[in-house]
Amino acid sequence: MMNRRYPEPSATETDTDIAIVGGGLSGTLTACLLGRAGYRVTLIDRHRVFPQEFRVEQIGREEIEKLEQLQLLTPLFKVAAPFDDIVNLHRGRILDRTHGQHYGFFYNRLMGAMRAALPETVNFVVGQVTGLRTSAKQQRISILGKDELTARLLVLATGMGDMLHRDLGISHKSIGERRSLAFGFNIRPLQSNRFRHTALSYHGDGNGIDRLDLFPVADATRANLFLFRDPRDSWVRSLHDNPKQALIATFPSLVDHFGDFEIASRIDSWLTEITLAENCRQDGVVLIGDAYLTSSPATGLGVSRLLTDVERLCRTYVPQWMTETAIDHTRIAAYYDDPEKADMDIGSVQMADRHFNLTAKTDVGWRLRRQFHFTRRRILYGIESISPALAAKLHQLKTIRTRSALRSAVLNSKPVA
Ligand SMILES: Cc1cc2nc3c(=O)[nH]c(=O)nc-3n(C[C@H](O)[C@H](O)[C@H](O)COP(=O)(O)OP(=O)(O)OC[C@H]3O[C@@H](n4cnc5c(N)ncnc54)[C@H](O)[C@@H]3O)c2cc1C
Repeated sequence: MMNRRYPEPSATETDTDIAIVGGGLSGTLTACLLGRAGYRVTLIDRHRVFPQEFRVEQIGREEIEKLEQLQLLTPLFKVAAPFDDIVNLHRGRILDRTHGQHYGFFYNRLMGAMRAALPETVNFVVGQVTGLRTSAKQQRISILGKDELTARLLVLATGMGDMLHRDLGISHKSIGERRSLAFGFNIRPLQSNRFRHTALSYHGDGNGIDRLDLFPVADATRANLFLFRDPRDSWVRSLHDNPKQALIATFPSLVDHFGDFEIASRIDSWLTEITLAENCRQDGVVLIGDAYLTSSPATGLGVSRLLTDVERLCRTYVPQWMTETAIDHTRIAAYYDDPEKADMDIGSVQMADRHFNLTAKTDVGWRLRRQFHFTRRRILYGIESISPALAAKLHQLKTIRTRSALRSAVLNSKPVA
C-alpha cells in the first residue's frame, strides 16, 4: 500500500476517496494514475471482463507519447502490434506514405491489460451503478445488489449514451450533423500468406466515404472503415450483403496494391453522434472521456482527447480538490475550463467538421478544397522522393499552419477550412 501523499482534510468519513464509474479506457487509466498517487480509489464497471465491443483499434505517435508521459505504455505493448509505415492510396494510386510509430489492437484486450496493471490501492467492483446522489462533501453511489458506496469525489467515465447521468440532471446535446458510421472487421490474405504492405489507408473521393484503414493487430489484419452516410443507404446495405465486392468496387486497385483478401470475421458497426454533456458543472462530480464529449471515430482524436482529460484531472485538479473539505461546483468548473482541455475539446469538434466537409460536401467550394488537399499531398510526396530534407521542412511548415489554423478556429469558435 502506498502512503497517502496529500494533506488529510477534516472531511466527512467516506468508504473511498474517489469512486470512478466506468472501467473503459478513461476510467481505468484514471484509476491507475490516482491509485499510484496513493488515493483510495474504487473503480466500478458492470463487466468483469470488457466485452468485444468496437472502439478505437489503432493509435499513433501523439497518443503513444502521451501514454509514455503518464507511464501507461507497458500494458499496450503486451497486446498490440507495432507498425510504422502506412501506404496511403487515393483514386487507385499511391498518394504518399505515413512514417511513424503506430500500434494496432483489439479494445477489449487492451482493457484487459490495462485493468491487470491497476495498483493495489484500486478496489475493482463489478456491478451496475443504478443511482447517484451528489453534494460538495459526499457522493452516494447505488450499485445493483450491493451496499451503497460513499466517496469524496465521483468520476463518471461511463462512455457514450449512458442513462445514469439523468439522475444528476445532466443531458447530452448533439452537436451538428456529423453522425458517422464505422465498420470493423478482420481480413485474411488469399493466394499468399501475407499482404504486400503492413498497413494501408485508402482515402475516399467525396462520396461520403472517408477512409479504409488496414493494419495489423496481435494475430490478424484489421479493417476500419469510416463513412458519413445514412445507415439505410444502399451502399451500406451492399457492404452488409457482399462486403468484399462493395470494397473492391469503391476502392479501385485495392487488391493490386494490398493483395487479394477475404473477410475473416463478423462485421462490427457503430453509429456515432457527437454529443456534449450539459449541466455538468456540479458539486462533487466530474465527467471524463466519452461521458463528457464523444469524438468522430474518423478523426482519430478520441484517445488523445480522453488522455488530456485524464492527465489534467489526475495531475492538476484531483490533488487540489483532495486538500479541500468540500469540492463545490466552482472548483469542478476549473477542470472543464482548463485551457489545454478546452483547446482539445473544441479542436476535436472542429476536426470532425473538417472531416465531414472534406468527405461528404459536394458544393464547388469543398470540391476544390478536396482537390487541393490531395494534389498538395501528391506534390509533397514527389518532392520527398527527390529531396527528403525539403519535404520534411514543408511537412513541418504544414503542421505549424494546421495547428495555428486550429488554434485560431478554437479561439474564434468557427469552422476550420
Ligand atoms: C467504432 C469506434 C471507432 C473508434 N475509433 C477511434 C480511433 O480510431 N481513434 C481514436 O482515437 N478514437 C476512436 N474512437 C473513440 C474511442 O474509442 C473512445 O473515445 C474511447 O474508447 C472512450 O473511452 P471511455 O472510457 O470514455 O468509454 P468506454 O470505453 O465506452 O467505457 C465506458 C465504460 O463504462 C461502463 N459503464 C457505463 N455505464 C455503467 C453503469 N451504469 N454502471 C457500471 N458501469 C458502467 C461500461 O461498461 C464501459 O466499460 C472510436 C470509437 C468508436 C465507437
